[in-house]
Amino acid sequence: MSDSIFTKIYQGEIPSEILFQDDIAFVIKDINPKAKTHLLIIPIKPIHSIMGMDEGDEEIVGHLFKIAKEMGQKLELPGYKLQINVGAHGGQEVFHLHIHLLANF
Ligand code: 5GP
Repeated sequence: MSDSIFTKIYQGEIPSEILFQDDIAFVIKDINPKAKTHLLIIPIKPIHSIMGMDEGDEEIVGHLFKIAKEMGQKLELPGYKLQINVGAHGGQEVFHLHIHLLANF
């Protein structure tokens, strides 16, 4: 299967500022923001979606939420929404798991 757009960004094949990264995940700004702050928190492992999680991936998914918390603190957001679209029928367009962090601050 070909690399997802997010893997291509992570590998530098498609330009995008990486706001944060560690050995499990990275954070970029959404190219088409739906709020003043709209970040995408993405695991390096190309997990297809929540529906495609393997045994053990819950640690990675938990880590994504920890990064969300840390980004909220770093940006001094007083509150925000976290959204995961799951499957085409759940509004998912990019089939590489990601959490949307949305805030109007
Ligand atoms: P989904 O609907 O899959 O939950 O969300 C995918 C998100 O990825 C959309 O909000 C869309 O704007 C964003 N997106 C798609 N292509 C790119 C891209 O090339 N760069 C960035 N930064 N975001 C993208």
